[in-house]
Amino acid sequence: METSRPEFDSQMYNEAVGQFNRVASLMGLDDNIADRLRVPQKSTVVSFPFRHDNYTEVETIFGYRVQHLTTMGPTKGGIRFDTDVDLGEVAALAMWMTWKCSIVGVPFGGAKGGVRINPMNLSRAELQRVTRRFTMEIINVIGPDTDIPAPDLGTNEQVMAWLMDTYSQHVGHAVPAVVTGKPPALGGSVARREATGRGLMFLLPQAAAAVGLDPIGASVAIHGFGNVGRYAAQAAQEAKARVVAVSDISGAIHNPDGIDVGAVGKWVDENRFLEGFPDADFMKQEEIFGLDVDVLVPAAIQNVIRADNAPDIKAKLIIEGANNPMTLEADDMLRDRGVFIVPDILANAGGVTVSYFEWVQDVQKYFWSENETVGRLREIMTRAFDDVHSISINEKVDMRTAALIKGIRRVADAKLVRGVFP
Ligand code: NAD
Repeated sequence: METSRPEFDSQMYNEAVGQFNRVASLMGLDDNIADRLRVPQKSTVVSFPFRHDNYTEVETIFGYRVQHLTTMGPTKGGIRFDTDVDLGEVAALAMWMTWKCSIVGVPFGGAKGGVRINPMNLSRAELQRVTRRFTMEIINVIGPDTDIPAPDLGTNEQVMAWLMDTYSQHVGHAVPAVVTGKPPALGGSVARREATGRGLMFLLPQAAAAVGLDPIGASVAIHGFGNVGRYAAQAAQEAKARVVAVSDISGAIHNPDGIDVGAVGKWVDENRFLEGFPDADFMKQEEIFGLDVDVLVPAAIQNVIRADNAPDIKAKLIIEGANNPMTLEADDMLRDRGVFIVPDILANAGGVTVSYFEWVQDVQKYFWSENETVGRLREIMTRAFDDVHSISINEKVDMRTAALIKGIRRVADAKLVRGVFP
């Protein structure tokens, strides 16, 4: 059966399919189902004109929305604005979203979207224009019962608010449930902003126990200080771990005695980038991977841990906040060295979990308290960790393989009972 599909050919898609193939054969997955799961069910590619603030410059921009699996309910997944975005990357991320939803028991299939643009160069007005136009381009394939976007790399609550407004203007009434990760004033959930970072750190005690590490006082370095990295740092500090380094695109800050995460957050709110933050050494962002720390949290972009820098990593524990932060080669190298890796599709599933809560609240028009939301998030994340860890022990496989087994199994069962139409 054909295993490579030229439409999606790219490093990330090939890695996603490579992982899937390995686990599918380990599970003895039915060939027909495996082939169906290798490719997304629907992919939308758009190009559209984007007018810059100087008015005379009109650029042609590419955007994508990929829906991997529509078997069990609507699809769900973030929209990223990034210069590297292409169809293969978005298709890979949509596939990982399917496994992620399945691992935490959220009744959605995976989707992902992206616009190939550098959001850091855009004014607020430009960001709004590109968001609204992209939303119009994909308006027929999204909706509260079909496909529900959320924030991802380079997008945020404000971008989701413009998306919700554009969709609502189009259909003629407010539709909060078309998007999650929006501001609470529009029907966003409390605790959604912090959910991914907090979810990562809910797993710290269990993961630390697996390597015999005391999480209290453990040193933590976090690559990325955006939505995921910032709130992971905050949660780590609240859990009494010692955050010694964080980074962003401008560089990294390091203080072996610990960084005051609240002060860093305030600095970034006022100065946008970490560069210039007092009370810490400043270094190149990639130097964070070689620091002598107990726990490393990659929470920025993909493929930052590779065969060339994996040997420098000293952490015993890696909790993946970003999607696909390490190459397959680096993953093998670190595993061989006994580093315990909590894989992205488990570790960062707190985001989609609270996105699901947000959608439920919007649909029911009944909103939960912060305690209720965070309590349910903790329960789902810690149970998912235990389930995956048990598979890892019983089947004698690493945590990534175990997470994929859990994610793929539920989806394959659902496909089998629905059957083939017609
Ligand atoms: P973000 O845009 O809020 O933050 C990204 C961070 O990475 C920033 O600190 C930025 O400066 C840094 N960064 C950007 N480009 C970089 C580069 N080339 N080199 C080094 N650093 C760079 O994004 P986010 O929402 O925090 O997402 C980060 C990762 O987590 C992505 O892989 C995303 O897919 C994944 N993720 C996000 C969520 C979510 O809820 N936002 C959920 C699950 C997974």
